[in-house]
Amino acid sequence: MNYTAQQIAALTDAQLVGNGELIVKSIAFDSRIIFSSKNTAFLAINTKKNSGEKYIPEVIEKGIEIIISETKTSDDEGITWILVNDTVRFLQTLAKIHIDSFNIKTIGITGSNGKTIVKEWLYQSLSDEYTIVKSPKSFNSRIGLPISLLQANEKHEMGIFEVGISHPGEMRLLADIFQPQIGIFTHIGSAHESHFKDQQEIINEKIMLFERSEVIIFNGDNPLVYKSIRDLYSSKGLISYGFENHNDVFIKNASHDGNLVISCFNEEFELKAQQRDDATLYNVLCVITTLKKLGFSTAKIIEKINALKAVEMRLESVNGVRNNLIINDSYNLDLDSLKISYQFIQEYNKPDKNLIITDFMDGKNQEQLYQQVSELTNQQKFNRTFLIGTEITKYKNLFDGKVYIFSDVKELIDSHLLNQIENEIILLKGARKFGTDRLKGYLELQKHDTVLEVNLNAIIHNINIHKSLLKPSTKMMAMVKAYSYGLGGYEIAEFLQHHHIDYLGVAYADEGVALRKNGISVPVMVMNPEQHSYESIIDYQLEPEIYSFRVLNLFYEQLVKKGVEKDYPIHIKLETGMHRLGFKTHELPELVQYLEKMELKVASIFSHLSCADDPSENAYTLEQIKIFNDNASYLCQEIGYVPICHILNSAGITYFSDHQFDMVRIGIGMMGLSTDIEIKKQLRPVVRFKTVISQISEVKRNESVSYNRRYKPQQDTRIATLPVGYADGIPRFIGNKVGKVGINGKLYPIVGTICMDMMMVEIGEDNINEGDEVVIFNSNPSLEDFSAYCNTIPYEVLTSISRRVKRVYIKD
Ligand SMILES: *Cc1c(COP(=O)(O)O)cnc(C)c1O
Repeated sequence: MNYTAQQIAALTDAQLVGNGELIVKSIAFDSRIIFSSKNTAFLAINTKKNSGEKYIPEVIEKGIEIIISETKTSDDEGITWILVNDTVRFLQTLAKIHIDSFNIKTIGITGSNGKTIVKEWLYQSLSDEYTIVKSPKSFNSRIGLPISLLQANEKHEMGIFEVGISHPGEMRLLADIFQPQIGIFTHIGSAHESHFKDQQEIINEKIMLFERSEVIIFNGDNPLVYKSIRDLYSSKGLISYGFENHNDVFIKNASHDGNLVISCFNEEFELKAQQRDDATLYNVLCVITTLKKLGFSTAKIIEKINALKAVEMRLESVNGVRNNLIINDSYNLDLDSLKISYQFIQEYNKPDKNLIITDFMDGKNQEQLYQQVSELTNQQKFNRTFLIGTEITKYKNLFDGKVYIFSDVKELIDSHLLNQIENEIILLKGARKFGTDRLKGYLELQKHDTVLEVNLNAIIHNINIHKSLLKPSTKMMAMVKAYSYGLGGYEIAEFLQHHHIDYLGVAYADEGVALRKNGISVPVMVMNPEQHSYESIIDYQLEPEIYSFRVLNLFYEQLVKKGVEKDYPIHIKLETGMHRLGFKTHELPELVQYLEKMELKVASIFSHLSCADDPSENAYTLEQIKIFNDNASYLCQEIGYVPICHILNSAGITYFSDHQFDMVRIGIGMMGLSTDIEIKKQLRPVVRFKTVISQISEVKRNESVSYNRRYKPQQDTRIATLPVGYADGIPRFIGNKVGKVGINGKLYPIVGTICMDMMMVEIGEDNINEGDEVVIFNSNPSLEDFSAYCNTIPYEVLTSISRRVKRVYIKD
C-alpha cells in the first residue's frame, strides 16, 4: 500500500489530526513486531479482550509517527492521528477499497483444514507465471484477512488469500470485503467448530464467500458440501475433486509401481506420491484442479506437483552448546518466512544474535532478492552473519557488520568460528539441501532422538480459551512450577511474559531465581518459601506466599536485616479446606495485628481449591469459596486496602467463573487439558513426546523379548526397539502390553520389560521401517490415554519426563 495519511482519512471517513502529507506504506497492529517505524502507521485495535491503545506510548518510543486509533490518547508532538469510530471496521473498509482498486485475479480459500497448505502450494506452483500476493502465515480472520489484502500493490497479477471463521455470522463480514473470482472450499472436518449448531450451518456460512465467484473448486466427497454448493450456486462453474469417482478430478487407483493414477476430466495421468495420508492427497487434488482450471497442460501440472515442497510453517528452538539458543527454521526459505524468523528472535532476551543463512534456491532476480534480504537482515543488527552458498556470498557487501562466507556447511563447521559463540542466539535459516540438519546437530546441546516438543502457540491459544470465560479485567497468574509442569522453565515463562501474563507462580525460590537470571521481570510468587532461601527471594525480588506466623516472622526478620521491609510484596494464603498450607479463620485477628505492625504490602490474598475438577464435590468447592470470600473480605477491611484476591485454578476457571475475584491461576489448562468436554474440544494439545525406531528385528514364535523373558510371541513377528526407557520417564510397569505407542497413526503394544534406556513394541507385518517416528503421546495415544496406561494423572506424567529428554519449542 502507499497512501498519504490524508488519503486514508478521506477514504475511510476518519478524522485527521496532524500532518496529512505523511506516507503510509504499512500498518502494524502488534507493538512488539514493528520492523521499521518509517512509513508505518500503528493501528491500536480494540477487541473484547484487549485494547491496542495501551501500547501507544511504546510505539511512539519506537519512532512511529502515525497512529490510527479510536481515541487520541496523548498530546505528543509530531504524532499524526487518524481517528476512527471502530478500528476493526476501519481496517476492513480500507482493505476493501484497496483490493478493489486493482485489477488482479483473486483466489479465496476457505474450509476447516488445509487452507494454508493449499495457499502455499498454489503460490509455489504459480509464482513463475504470475506475480502473486498472498496471506502471510495463516492470516485469515477479520483482522488477518484485511491485513493480507492491504499487501497488494500495482505489480501484483494474482492474489491468493485464506478466509477463516470460527463463529456464526463472521463470513458475512469477510465476504463483504473480499469476493474472490475463484473460490476454493478445501475440506470440512469436525475440529474446533463448537460454536456452530451442526455441519450444515458451518457449510452455509462458509460458502457465502463464493457469492460473486465465477468458479468454485471444492472437495466433493462430503455429500453435504456437494449438495449445498450445487443447490445454491448451480449457475456458476463448479468443479469438484476427491477420492470418489463422481468428482471431476479424483484418484482412480494406485498403479503397479505405487504411483497414483489421477483422473482429471476424463484424462488420466500418474503421479509419484511420497505421502499418502488423506489430508495431503486432498490438498494435492485441490492444487491439480486449480491448475487445470487456470489452463495448465497435464505435463505442466505433473511437473509442478512433483516439485511441491512440504509446507511446515514452524520454527523450533532448542538449547545449544555453550548456553546458546538455537533457532532452527530450515523448512522454508523465502522473504516471508525470513520476516517471521526475525520477528521470532526479537522475542528472546538474549541480546546477541547470529545468523546462518544459505542461498535461497529461488530462480528469480537474484540481485533484487538479496538486496531485500540484506535490508531485512541489516535491521536486525546481528553480531555475526554467516553466508553459505555460491549465490548469497556474491552479495556479501550488502550485509552490515561481521560477515563470513562459506561455500558449504562443512567449511563453516571446520572454520571453528561457531565455537566462539557463547550465550547468544543462533538463527539457522537455510535450505535443507545445504545440510542444515548437520549444522543443527553440531550446535545442539542434547542430540537424542527422543524429544518432547512443546507448542508455544498452543499454550497461548489455551490461555485465551480460558480467558474467554473471564471478565477482561481479571488478571491471570500462570503456574510455571516444577519446570512448567515438566515442559521447560524459562522458555515458557519468557513466552508468557512476552504475551503479557500478569503473574507467574513457582513452587520454590530456586525456580524463581532461575527465571530472574534469564531475564524474566514479571512478578513471581513463590509458594513454598523455605527458610534458607529468604535471602535469595529478597535479592531476586520474588514474592513469597506467607502461610503461617512462623514464615511471616522469619521472613520479616530477614527483610528488616536487609533494610527493605517497607512495602515488600507478600501473598497471604488462607486455609479453606485443602488442609495443606494457610492461615485458619481463627488466626486472622492475630494476623491483622502483625500486619499492622509490619510495613509489608499484602499484594494478594488467596486460597486453593481441592476438588474444583470433581462435579460431585461442588458443594465442598462452594463452601471453600464462601470461606475464602468471608475471610478475604475481613482481611481487606482490617488492613484498610484491597489486595488482589484469587482462588480459581484451571478447573475452577471452567466450572466456577462466577467466583473469579481479581485473578485466576492457570496450570494444566494451559497444557490443553480439561475435564470439561466442551472446553477440552476447544483446547489444543501442547506436548508431543516422540522418538524414532532404532532397530527392527524378526522374532520367532516362542522366542522371548527383553529382560526375564516376559514376552514370548504366539507367532513369528517383528519387534521395534525404541531409544526410550524408564530413565526417560516411561513407568516400568506399562511394559508387557499395558501401554501402547503410535506409529503412522496406529497403536502398537509395548512388549517385554521396559529397560532403563530402551523399550520394545510389536509391529507385526505392518509397513514400518527403522528410523520411523514413534509417538509416545500426542493425539494418538493422547496424554490422557498415556496417563491411563500409567494409572495416574497427566500432571504426574508430564513432571516425570526426565530432564535428559530434549525439549524443543515450536511456534507455528
Ligand atoms: C499448581 C497450582 C495451581 C494450578 O492448578 P491447575 O490444576 O494445574 O490449574 C493453582 N494454584 C496453586 C496454588 C497451585 O499450586
